[in-house]
Amino acid sequence: MTELEAPPGQEEHTWRPARFMVIAAHPDDADFGPAATASRWIDEGSVGWLVCCTSGDAGAEDPDTDPLELAALREREQRAAADVVGYEGVTFLHMPDGALVNDLILREHLVREIRTFRPDAVLATDPETLFHRDRGVNHTDHRAAGFAAVDAAYPVARNPMAFPWLAREGLAAHSVRRLYLFWSNTITVRVDISGTIDRKLDALRAHASQLKDFDRVERSIREWSAEVGKDLGVAAAEGFHLVVIDEDDEDEAEADGAGAAADAGELVESEAAEAGSTTGGRPGS
Ligand SMILES: [Zn+2]
Repeated sequence: MTELEAPPGQEEHTWRPARFMVIAAHPDDADFGPAATASRWIDEGSVGWLVCCTSGDAGAEDPDTDPLELAALREREQRAAADVVGYEGVTFLHMPDGALVNDLILREHLVREIRTFRPDAVLATDPETLFHRDRGVNHTDHRAAGFAAVDAAYPVARNPMAFPWLAREGLAAHSVRRLYLFWSNTITVRVDISGTIDRKLDALRAHASQLKDFDRVERSIREWSAEVGKDLGVAAAEGFHLVVIDEDDEDEAEADGAGAAADAGELVESEAAEAGSTTGGRPGS
């Protein structure tokens, strides 16, 4: 790491959580999002869990589609994709597609998931992304899931008096230490995914009901990943807006050799993050 020479986001991000949770609005979001980073971290020894707030029951062109059948199909597709990435498990919260709201009910569900799996890092859609720059509107469910994930991770999951029945049930308070926000217009860290981009594409292939023209999807994913990787000098990268809630203690940082101390500066918004992680052209749900 040469943090004194390179602006934030223009060096490879090497910190890795022992346990991480991806929180997404719809089946396929996690695979369009951080699937290659998740695959890499899992290959290197991390344990991951995926939470889908909805089952994508509004993701079809025909208004006569049976939403329950569609939800069941999309859950099967997402489970197959999750197996490709290597998550330990998947939870579906069965919230309504297109009507996701960052309310107490959703936050309680997410706190329950966080306190059960106890991740060091939560990966979620960046709730600050209203527009993908000038290339489209970010789906309302993506924003709601992002807000709910952030609010659940901090401060609720670590506060035993929030939803106190959870702690009384035995789900003790848990501190999520980092947020990795994807589909962000403010990329501050980049993860080299040259070795796992093909796995991301394999995971995406599992969402057959959504991706009719997979060649176009593959071209887009390779183009976006190359753009984000350009400043790193790698073939492909995924970018995140990293929020460090709790710094690692030094012993731990030295033990995992991951250069966590260097990440403090990465909180600064990167003016050089011109690549963005725009998702223009991708399905809306
Ligand atoms: Zn979506």
